[in-house]
Order: sequence, then C-alpha cells, then structure tokens
Amino acid sequence: MKKSVTVLGATGSVGHSTLKIIRENPDKFQVIGITANSNVTLLAKLAFEFMPKFVVISDLRLLSDLETRLAHVDIEILSGEEGLDFLASQKTDILIAAISGFAGFKPIFKAISVGTDIAIANKEALVAGGHLLMPLAKRKDVNILPIDSEHNAIFQCMMGQHWDDVENVTLTASGGPFLSITREDMHHIRPVKALKHPTWNMGAKISIDSATMMNKGLETIEAAWLFGIGREKVSAVIHPQSIMHGFVRFWDGTIISHMAPPDMKVPISHALAWPERLKIQTEKLDLTQTAGLEFIEINNEQFPCYDLAHQLIGEDPCYAVALNAANEIAVSLYLDNKLAFGDIYSLCIKTLDMIKIGSLDNYQSVIDYDSFARDISRSIVLSL
Ligand code: NAD
Ligand code: MG
Repeated sequence: MKKSVTVLGATGSVGHSTLKIIRENPDKFQVIGITANSNVTLLAKLAFEFMPKFVVISDLRLLSDLETRLAHVDIEILSGEEGLDFLASQKTDILIAAISGFAGFKPIFKAISVGTDIAIANKEALVAGGHLLMPLAKRKDVNILPIDSEHNAIFQCMMGQHWDDVENVTLTASGGPFLSITREDMHHIRPVKALKHPTWNMGAKISIDSATMMNKGLETIEAAWLFGIGREKVSAVIHPQSIMHGFVRFWDGTIISHMAPPDMKVPISHALAWPERLKIQTEKLDLTQTAGLEFIEINNEQFPCYDLAHQLIGEDPCYAVALNAANEIAVSLYLDNKLAFGDIYSLCIKTLDMIKIGSLDNYQSVIDYDSFARDISRSIVLSL
C-alpha cells in the first residue's frame, strides 16, 4: 500500500529533495497535495508531474494564473491561508512540513488535529508553538518525525534507547560561512556572502540563520520540544566537516552518534519511510578519506544569537515566539539590504526586552502574539 503524502512548501529546498525521493520511489508514495507561496511556474510543473488531488498557492494574486495553467487537469486548486488550512485538514499518512517560517505553524496544527503524522523541517513552527504542537500530537497519537538533520540524527541515535539513560544531547553546526570572521568584520557583510553556505544548499532564510548561528540556537529549542528535554541537556558544537550530525551521551559514558553525507535526502527519506528505510541515491561517505573530525565550542562573543535562543528553553513560550518573529523580520530586512548583518542580533534582543508576557494556550493566541511581536520589532527598526 502506498503512503499518502502532503508536501507543504513543495517548491522550496526541502520540498525539492522530498519530491526527488518520491520520484525515485513511485511504488511507495502517492502525493495528495502540494503547496507553494508564489512560485506558480514550478508549482504547476510539479502538479503536472505528480497529479495530486489538491494544489495550493498561498499568494492570492497568483490564483488565476495557476487556474489558467491547470485548466485542463482534474486537480482542485486552492489559495491563501484558507486553502492551506483546508489541505492540511485532509488526513494523509504523512505531511511534510517544509514551509519556511512561522507561516507553517497553523497548517501543522490543523494536520495534527486530524491525526496526520508530521515529518517536520519547519523549525520555526516548533520554536514558536512547540508547547501546543507536542501535547496535541500526544493526545492525537500522531508521530512527529524530525527532518532537520541534527534532530533526525538524535532520533536515530535514540532508537532502542531510553531517555532516562541520557546525560545530554549535542547538535552539530557547520559554523556557517563566517566561522573565521570577527563580529566587527561581520557587521556590514552583504547578503550575497552570507547566502553562501559552505556545506548545505538551502533556502535564503535558513542560510542567513546559519550565518548568524541563530539557526543552531533555534535548533536547541526545537530539540527541547521534540525530545522533551531541558536546557541543560541540549547544546551545540561546531563541526566544520558536517558529517556527524548529532550525538547522545549516556550516563554510562557511551556516546552514540549519527553520521551521513551532508545531503537532506538522508533525513527526509528516513522520516518519509519510517519505520522502514529506503535505498536512495546519495554520496557514500568514505571514512578512510576523511582527514579528521573537528569539534569546536561556539564562541558567544562572535555568534551571540546562538546563546540568545538557547537560553529561552524552559522560559515562558512568549519569549520564543517573539524571538522567532523578530528574527524573521530582521532576516527579511537584511536580505532587502535594509538592515546590517550585525543588527539582526540587536533587533532580536531589543524586541525581547520590550515584550509583555501573555497567555498562549491556544493556536490563535500564538498567532496573535506573533503579530504583536512583529509590530514591536518593526517599531524598533525605525529607531535603530
Ligand atoms: P525555502 O525558502 O527553500 O522554501 C520554503 C517553501 O515554503 C517554499 O515552497 C515556499 O513557497 C513556501 N513558503 C515560504 N513562505 C511561505 C508563506 N508565507 N506561506 C506559504 N508558503 C510559504 O526553504 P527551505 O530551505 O526548504 O526550508 C524550509 C524549512 O525547513 C525551514 O523552516 C528551514 O529552517 C527548514 N530546514 C531546511 C533545511 C534545508 O536544507 N533547506 C534543513 C533543515 C531544516
Ligand atoms: Mg539543521
């Protein structure tokens, strides 16, 4: 029996790798729905190839364009936030959460509500809403399978293990493009340079987050929610070779690590096929050709965003929502050349200083709080 799959963010980097795996395994998966924000050309092309039941374009202005392109095929075309919610509410065997940013939170919430298993790449949704998504998944008996490579690594290290036996968990970081650059020299660095990641080829937002190391800080929050662990149990270390993605240290001194080529197809295929494994086309690591594995502590002076996020584990969820919102505003302004690289951190910390704590006990309150934090960030930008 084929697994039915919904792919949110099908036109992005994770979406692309996901569809590559599905393309190579047509007997195992059937695509039910695909979505994109605005890349209507690629979305239409993918619709013709995979013939899903539903296609969603989030940007309402592009709906008629998509309708014209798909006029003669039997596919239901939906748009905007409502379309995304509708698709997410159609139960499938698994949903690939590969939208970038907080925009992915509500559809994930909807999908868990109807009992669909989630393969999650969209870390911002967990950072901002993990306190609601994880308990909901437990109540609905839904599996949340990590796609983020470090979290998938930890998930694999823990197969057959018990969390009671774990002393701590370490996520690895490549170090991004600015590992050997001082914070002062980084301040005015242009987006073209920040977008050039040494080992991974990813979307713009996560590439900038990797350059500031906010990505690794957000990933510690993501790990805390996914695995139900506290701040003292999770941290990150720089590992420039990017072949060991995470490791778990047990109380008896054992360390179990996960190694794989730096190719997102590895964790995606694991989450897609779980509890089985797929034979996929990827580079094979030859450990005899690996010169040496380095592990370097993250320098907080050089990369303050890492610690800013890490210290929010265990704090009121409002702080993580606000940090994520401020960071999304900051990264988008930076990509438009309207904010200096060094001011990404300043905007985040100033936003955290200005927020008031509220109650985030349902998904609408998280969405409202995200908007509130974005308004605060925008008002701070004007005074920077
Ligand atoms: P991307 O920018 O390449 O793709 C994002 C996708 O989401 C696109 O299909 C886009 O159309 C859609 N999208 C963006 N904004 C949207 C909005 N407001 N509403 C609806 N759809 C929207 O991003 P990516 O690199 O594929 O990353 C996706 C997610 O996976 C991110 O949360 C990222 O942190 C995470 N992730 C990515 C990688 C990677 O290697 N790319 C690795 C680990 C985790
Ligand atoms: Mg990662």
